[in-house]
Amino acid sequence: MISADSSPAGLPRRGFLKGAGALILGASLSASSAMPTALAKDGRKRLLRVAHLTDIHVSDIKGAADGMAAAIRHAQAQLDCPDLLLFGGDCIGDALDTPKAKVLAQWELWEKIFSAEVKLPHAICLGNHDILGWSRRDDPALAGDPDYGKSLALRRLGLKERYFSFDRAGWHFVVLDSMQPAKTSGYIAELDEEQFAWLVRDLAATPTTVPVCVLSHIPILSAAAFLDGDLAKTGNWEVPGAWMHLDVRRIKDLFGQHRNVKVCLSGHLHLVDDVSYLGVRYFCNGAVSGGWWKGNYQEFGPTYALLDLYDDGSVDLQLVAYQA
Ligand SMILES: [Zn+2]
Repeated sequence: MISADSSPAGLPRRGFLKGAGALILGASLSASSAMPTALAKDGRKRLLRVAHLTDIHVSDIKGAADGMAAAIRHAQAQLDCPDLLLFGGDCIGDALDTPKAKVLAQWELWEKIFSAEVKLPHAICLGNHDILGWSRRDDPALAGDPDYGKSLALRRLGLKERYFSFDRAGWHFVVLDSMQPAKTSGYIAELDEEQFAWLVRDLAATPTTVPVCVLSHIPILSAAAFLDGDLAKTGNWEVPGAWMHLDVRRIKDLFGQHRNVKVCLSGHLHLVDDVSYLGVRYFCNGAVSGGWWKGNYQEFGPTYALLDLYDDGSVDLQLVAYQA
């Protein structure tokens, strides 16, 4: 059995656990913005354009800081400019298995670049690598530290809640926290009971005519998860519970009761896929950091995604290979 701590081949072993998600709603998000109403050739009306930037993993590694700034600038310089930036988690290099002083330095770098570069309304989702200490639970330096776990990341990202929702230009956005602690070390991908009950209520309170876009760090459903490492080497598929949501069945059953759930965005794998299942498009959109700033990860280089969201609940997506 592959442990929840195992890392995909080609990426740093320690701390490349994927997962967790929390969201920050930028203060500017509540401000009204010019709403694009471009009409597609087929008569659909575009309600808004979103840039999804995930797995930035900023740290002192060569190229990371400049790459983060380049990706944000590139997205905001689009002639057809996005209305909203969605940051998909794994903001910093790693906090799961990194001494706290180095984690704090990474957050300072994130905040410096973020505050200098981000000009558009935005929301942020927590990632597994943003969580302090879950892979070094025996570290005496973390004993009793109130920053342990998700607290530090939530504070540094300005998030009041680790999951939340908001409305924008006729769409409803749900931001989830994908990560739960694994039994001994690291994390698994799952919604806790409190969060799932909230999701049930949130979707029930959303009018059926309003399309829903879900943002999570870890994919709820993914094809690429089968290709992140040699997961068939035992003669059977063994996809780690940290690669894709273990509770996908009950989440897709819930989505089945709310057919206005149309799009799910994720990252975490640093791979790209587009899975359509029971009327929901599940996009795993690659990583701004590519192979953690060392080029490609498998076939995929540094990337962010642009999405056009339409009034009929449909979506067009393009991946942007900006110059890191
Ligand atoms: Zn991740």
